[in-house]
Amino acid sequence: MESTLEKLKILADGAKYDVSCSSSGVGRRNTGKIGSSAAAGICHSWSADGRCISLLKILFTNKCVYDCEYCVNRRTADVARASFEPKELARLTIEFYRRNYIEGLFLSSAVEVSPDYTAERIMSCIRLLRNEYGFGGYIHAKIIPGVSPEILHQIGLLADRLSVNIELPTKESLNLLAPQKKPKNIFAPMKQITQTLTERKQLKGAGTMFKNQDIYSAGNLSYLEPEGENISTGDGSLVDLTGRPLAAPEKGRSRKERFAPAGQTTQMIIGASPESDRQIVKTSENLYRTFKMKRVYFSAYIPVSNSPLLPTPFTAPPLAREHRLYQADWLLRFYGFTADEILDEKTPFLDLELDPKISWALRNIDKFPMEINKVSLDELLRIPGVGTTSALRIVRQRRLSAIQFDDLKKIGVVVKRARYFITCCGKYCGGPDIAPDYIKNEMLAAECIRNRLLPIDDNVQLSMFNPVANQWGTVANRPDPIRNLHGQRTVSHG
Ligand code: SF4
Repeated sequence: MESTLEKLKILADGAKYDVSCSSSGVGRRNTGKIGSSAAAGICHSWSADGRCISLLKILFTNKCVYDCEYCVNRRTADVARASFEPKELARLTIEFYRRNYIEGLFLSSAVEVSPDYTAERIMSCIRLLRNEYGFGGYIHAKIIPGVSPEILHQIGLLADRLSVNIELPTKESLNLLAPQKKPKNIFAPMKQITQTLTERKQLKGAGTMFKNQDIYSAGNLSYLEPEGENISTGDGSLVDLTGRPLAAPEKGRSRKERFAPAGQTTQMIIGASPESDRQIVKTSENLYRTFKMKRVYFSAYIPVSNSPLLPTPFTAPPLAREHRLYQADWLLRFYGFTADEILDEKTPFLDLELDPKISWALRNIDKFPMEINKVSLDELLRIPGVGTTSALRIVRQRRLSAIQFDDLKKIGVVVKRARYFITCCGKYCGGPDIAPDYIKNEMLAAECIRNRLLPIDDNVQLSMFNPVANQWGTVANRPDPIRNLHGQRTVSHG
């Protein structure tokens, strides 16, 4: 039998591939308990590999009965196995909290015995933390596909955020790589969470929003139809699977506040299956629309398996692609873009060299230049270099006086990007012509200089601080920043 420390090592290591755990923006009131979750989200820092480290990020167990090809914890993988007892993990969490190591808990799990068996143990652990140890801090609980609605509801009453991983961008890939995970078992808990949150917010239309929604854009829709009139959301008289009564809701706190106040998120693995970025972005869009996801996280596939169905173990994780997908996700959530605008049939993959907003602008160059003093807020948000805050400032400022180029920097516009796409009072400062090739080369050159990537043939001594590998891989295959597509010099250094 492993010690708690050994279990901690095994189960913290097993959880590092799950990225859906950034802090949430939840405001949990401190009612005399220990810990709190500030409205701006819990404080967190990031480890060298970009993962969140201020939460205790851990698996409840890695003894999995499933055999998902892409997973380090799959049944057939030769790894050390361990499981916590609910009390053991609750005590560990509270001890870590008291020592100021962590501010919250991100609790995921493999499937031990069955989804309900595992989820019940997760529920017991969180309940101990909340009720016995009085922990009021942030808890993000992973929901296992196939869990019964009653247990899910009870976990939702205890946790701040829930997440059910969609895992792969299409149903076909899920069937191939994780045949024990059925789409309907993934979408049913997502649906229940959304429905409960929607009912609690008393929004109109709850219960009808799931009809005819296709999450996997190329899939069969039937598994999304509700099976009954309503999914049971449980009440104070529920019993668990063993017949024990489940805890009644605490008195003095409204139910409205308590069900997963930070909403739900999901995670999609990128690069384990052959889908295009277009399919991935479309699936994300459907998840946001249908399930009101707070975030869809992307996780670049790290090879952990020799399966012939997956990239070889020597394949580098597609981190640049993951980064561009997050930028595309930003466009979906904050800039009013649709998936079909970001990528279309002719352009199914994101450009790894340029951010998706610039790529869209270059493909739609006929819409530019836009006159900054005239175009609508929606149009302002389409201009590269103009963010959500600066777009609002422009709208406010131009009511008072016409905006000139010199004002843009103070407003917060990234002028070196925006200048190719705008006019101010009819004046264009983007160069001799508004040509996509020319603009692209200028952008790439600026990017190289920003990254301090100097051209190889410039006879410049590389220092420790010149990155030798970046999104293009190595110095040898990066684009020459000072030449355009025709080999002409486009910028000078200085
Ligand atoms: S269910 Fe699949 S993804 Fe989850 S731990 Fe088990 S093998 Fe891994």
